[in-house]
Order: sequence, then C-alpha cells, then structure tokens
Amino acid sequence: METIKSRLILLKGRKNKSSSDWRAILSSSIVTADQLKKYLSVNTEEVYKTASTYPLQINRYFLSLIKKKNDPMWKQVVPDIRELSDSQGTDDPLMEEQFSPVLNLIHRYPDRVLFIVSNRCAVFCRFCTRKRLIGRRSTVSEDSIKRGVDYISQNPAIKDVILSGGDPLLLEDEVIYHILVQLRAIPHIKTIRFHTRAVSTLPQRITERLVSILKQFHPIYINTHFNHPDEVTSEVITASTMLAEGGIPLGCQTVLLKGVNDNSNTMKRLMTKLLQIRIRPYYIHHPDIVKGTRHFRPSINKGLAIMKSMRGHLSGMCIPQYMIDLPGGGGKVPLLPDYIKKIKDGRMKVESFDGKYYEYPMD
Ligand SMILES: *Cc1c(COP(=O)(O)O)cnc(C)c1O
Ligand code: SF4
Repeated sequence: METIKSRLILLKGRKNKSSSDWRAILSSSIVTADQLKKYLSVNTEEVYKTASTYPLQINRYFLSLIKKKNDPMWKQVVPDIRELSDSQGTDDPLMEEQFSPVLNLIHRYPDRVLFIVSNRCAVFCRFCTRKRLIGRRSTVSEDSIKRGVDYISQNPAIKDVILSGGDPLLLEDEVIYHILVQLRAIPHIKTIRFHTRAVSTLPQRITERLVSILKQFHPIYINTHFNHPDEVTSEVITASTMLAEGGIPLGCQTVLLKGVNDNSNTMKRLMTKLLQIRIRPYYIHHPDIVKGTRHFRPSINKGLAIMKSMRGHLSGMCIPQYMIDLPGGGGKVPLLPDYIKKIKDGRMKVESFDGKYYEYPMD
C-alpha cells in the first residue's frame, strides 16, 4: 500500500485548472423544468411531469450543443411526454438484476462482467437502457464495489472487466485509481474497459491527471458513446487526443435513435468523424425495449439498411457491428443485411456492395 499512497501523492500536486472545470460544469447542470425553460422553449408542464418520473439532467456543455427545438441534441436529453405512455417496454428487459450474483455486477457471459461502479452521468439520456436507475438513489457504495471486486477475484473464468454505470469516469480520480489498483491485483484479469459517455457529453472530464492515472494500468480500453456527428467538437477532439496519446485504444458504442441518427447520411458522417479522431466504431446498438423509450426505436429494417449503405462505401475501419440485446437475458447478437441471396447445388448467390450478383462455392 505504501507505493500506492506515494504514487497518489505525486499525482495530487498536478491537480490543474481543467480538472476543477468539469465539476463546475456538472454541478451547474439543469435539473428542473423551471431552469430549463430559461434556455429552451419547452412545454414546462410536460417537462415537469416527465421529469418527475424520469429525472432530468443537462450540463452546460451539452446544453450549448442544442441549436434548435427538437434537433438531435435536444431529443437526446430533453424530457418528452411520450416517455410516460410507452406500453411496449419494461423496466429491465435484459433481466440485468437476475444476472447479478452480487449487487451491481452483471455476469452474463462466461469470461467478462459488467461492473456498475457509478450512478452519476454527465447528462441523463432519455433513451437510456438503465433508465430505471438513472438519477435515483445510488445503489453504488464503497461496500458494493468491494463485494464486486471480491466476486471477480474469486472467479478465475473472468478475464475482462467492464466498468460501467452510470458513468465510471464521473468518479473522482482517487476512486478510479483505487478500483484499478484492486482489479490489477487480480492475476486472471487481463483487460479492463471503461464504458463512458463522458468523452462526448463532458469532454472536460478528460484531464492530464486522469490520463496519467489510467495509463498506469494498461491494457485499459475505453468505449465512448457518440450518437451524432455534431457531438464531435473541438473539446472532444482535445479529449480523444489526450486519451489516444495515453495509449488507450478508443471505441464507440452508438445507439440507433429515431430522429437523431436513423439515416445513412448522419450515421456515415458520424462514423467517419470518429475514425478521424482515433475512435474506432465498435457497436451500433438497436435501442433496448426499455419502458419510456418507444418513441426512439426505429424498425430493424431501418438499421439493416443503414448497415448496408456503409459496407463497401466507407472504410471498413469505421464500420461497427449492429447489435440487438435479446430481451430475457439472451445477450447480444449481431445483425447483418442478407448478402446471401440463394443457395443452390453447392453454390451461393451473393450480392455485392454495389448491388451486383456473384456466385461463390459453398465448399
Ligand atoms: C454488452 C455486455 C457485455 C460486453 O459485451 P461485448 O460484446 O464483449 O462488448 C458484457 N456484459 C454484459 C452484461 C453486457 O450487457
Ligand atoms: S450516460 Fe449512459 S448510463 Fe448515463 S443516462 Fe446516458 S446512456 Fe444512460
């Protein structure tokens, strides 16, 4: 423990201005309908009603990205009365709670766990899969983290830990450091990833101090979450550059959202921009069937058509996989457009990216 302490003391001296910025941006977030109406032309009563069931939080940075009523940024964070009339969704369609051997740790796949270490977020996304938890009383505590770490250390089949939430990067540097020290002390843990939306919704959170902590624990991976090309700002580029220079491979999980990014042009622009800032698109998620998010869900055919429009037309480096997560806890499954048109006499008829047909032997 001696070395851990002294390393942290070294870091303390480097607390710089930008590290206090993110806290100020976050603590001045808009959280009530009355505050919001000062900045946006919302229906205050509807926002009030919706936010009483599903809390509202928009930080000043993300607020500044909203340019007009109902634009893609607006739709992602401003409460919508339709959230209260969704008869299709359920609170926990992925049955995360049934797959939790200990509180806040989901063990669905043999070799990896999703570890909820934070209930804070930089903004509250209206389409969130964990809508049931966001902005409510925290179930995360020092104790829950300790129990999670104990479970991981007792299960040698686990090789990969996903720190999630909420947003794991909204923890204080010291807490992140402490979690990483504990995980790295477990020999069977090979990789650690952060699933975070902070890079896109509060890029000021990425400080030199944070990067200097993360890079002590390689291999560390970060999967960001971007949904629209306008989220790629100069602040974001600064943040992604710092992380990339820290040797952290960056991925992106995008959620396919009606009225936000459910068209080929927007999606192609987003994927291309991400690759340019060294973020490699990883997944496009079809929205889960979560109560209160029906109005965000496009058809599966729409998603498949978008995937088809990318393959062959964009660098393969920026084409993610399109995923659904099966209700009932079946896990993630990739969906692909049908390229095999027919199989006959040991040969298949395959459609090329530009719509021509070719034959290919089955074996
Ligand atoms: C998505 C998810 C993972 C990670 O899956 P990958 O395909 O490895 O990115 C792990 N556990 C749970 C419970 C998940 O939902
Ligand atoms: S940042 Fe992530 S966890 Fe938080 S509300 Fe948005 S999607 Fe949900």
